[in-house]
Amino acid sequence: MVTSKDFLKKGFVVSANSKNDFSTEVMRNHAYNNQTREFNISKVHSVLSAKSEDIRQLDQALQYLQQNPEAASVVKEATVKGVHIVLIKSNEGEYGPLRSNNPDGIIFWNPNISPEIYAPVNGKDVLLGRQSAANVLLHELIHATDSNLAKSDIEINAYTQKYRIDDPNVKYLNPSEYKAITQANKLVSNFHGEPVRPDYRPNINLLPTASAIDFQTNQYDKQGNLIGKLVQQYDSFAQTITRTHTDYEHLDRYGNPTVKQTVTDINGKPVKAVPEKHSFNYENPDWNSLTGSDLYKAVLSAEGNQLDMLGKSFAQSEEGQKMTQLGDRLWEDFKEQQELERQQELARSSRAMVRTL
Ligand SMILES: [Zn+2]
Repeated sequence: MVTSKDFLKKGFVVSANSKNDFSTEVMRNHAYNNQTREFNISKVHSVLSAKSEDIRQLDQALQYLQQNPEAASVVKEATVKGVHIVLIKSNEGEYGPLRSNNPDGIIFWNPNISPEIYAPVNGKDVLLGRQSAANVLLHELIHATDSNLAKSDIEINAYTQKYRIDDPNVKYLNPSEYKAITQANKLVSNFHGEPVRPDYRPNINLLPTASAIDFQTNQYDKQGNLIGKLVQQYDSFAQTITRTHTDYEHLDRYGNPTVKQTVTDINGKPVKAVPEKHSFNYENPDWNSLTGSDLYKAVLSAEGNQLDMLGKSFAQSEEGQKMTQLGDRLWEDFKEQQELERQQELARSSRAMVRTL
């Protein structure tokens, strides 16, 4: 498993506010040689350091990406080629080759932004969701390991020349972006269920994200109606990934979208909520002093007819009657919230449509 440390064997990993800030610092301290187009790595490390939070995000993104063996080999190749990484706070990802006929280059990556992805469905632009920052990192790593970007300046210029307007791949801008976009789609988006990027757009909306591996994928039918969404969220406290899938097509018996949730560790291994073993009086619990979490645990660990006993006791108790009413209210609130979220998704999709007209 490659970590940020492996990038230090041949390159540097540092934090900077922006690409500009990085360049200014490096130039001022003569850590870059304009003639040889090489960095003085120890000098770069002496004027700039890597923030521990940035390193944590980078390592997490690398771990997530390397779950796919094909992506893992891209990551590995980048460390062997001596690619440098600058963790920035503004803008999105960027890759630049350094010297002609050399494989080393520099990646600027912001672990705290998540690009929104739009795609045409049934003649209108719909919001496919937002990709993880880790996905953007792999996009840059594809550039960084692209042998066509390690040739002569003339060859690199030809390779990054815009497609002709009649080229079938024109929506991908140039052959370099075609490769990075389609490979990242294959190695990350399809592998993990993230939104698939359909093209290269100059102005991408960037949303702030707490974790480099959070994403959201919206699903549409052929008419462009939202039929489902998948949200991945990392919990840095529990160190778990929660994936929530909302299915707007299949409603439960109350008429609400079906929601399925899985909790895994960072490697995708299921984390099972282990109910605490404790004695619980299912036949006649003390409803007046029972906490919500005790009840939840009891329900999770109930066996056989224990839930039936619990239900009967609950229905008869005074507290149970009150809770039924409260439950109904919470349920209504939940339904309203779900509908609101769905409306917001649709509103964003239509805003995007207006913007691109
Ligand atoms: Zn690119």
